[in-house]
Amino acid sequence: MNHESLAEKLIAMAQEEGFSEAAVISTGEFYFVPEYRSYCEDNLCGNYGKNYACPPYCGTVDEMHARTDNYRYALVLKSDHQVNNAMDPVETKALKKFHNTLTRQLTKRLNDEGLIEDGLSIMAGPCNLCAVCGMPEGRPCPFEAKRFSCLSAYCIDVVHLAKSAGMPLAWDMDKVSFFSMYLFS
Ligand code: SF4
Repeated sequence: MNHESLAEKLIAMAQEEGFSEAAVISTGEFYFVPEYRSYCEDNLCGNYGKNYACPPYCGTVDEMHARTDNYRYALVLKSDHQVNNAMDPVETKALKKFHNTLTRQLTKRLNDEGLIEDGLSIMAGPCNLCAVCGMPEGRPCPFEAKRFSCLSAYCIDVVHLAKSAGMPLAWDMDKVSFFSMYLFS
């Protein structure tokens, strides 16, 4: 299957799974902002130092960037949701988790159907493969090869990403959009 046909198929499958929009872009279009790492250090999400896939354990910004350089393309996935208050973390956290679940369902399907074998997932939120990450208690990660980091941990600018993918963002207090990606070559 050539690249164009594969991209069309991936986008169609993403829409079947429930994503609002999907696009395939080159990983060379990513825009990294190392200064974003300071937002992780502020720990508003509560995962800094508490999840193997989050900073600082996940690696430096340069190491994260280098990881994406192993892949040529990114399937960019977006979901849109109506909310009562876009600033309410309780409301948005559950939707972010739902977005990540959709992403995992899609990547499993892509793997099972042999369309992408060794992709790299970059999610909307922290790794939640375990009910509770074992890092705070010093338990080893049981899924080292499968765990995933979020866009923030990679310091990838989401506004730039959305623009590259042809999905310009509009800020609205009763609507939230989440992004994730599956990288492949
Ligand atoms: S797989 Fe489990 S232990 Fe490993 S980073 Fe994810 S939640 Fe933490």
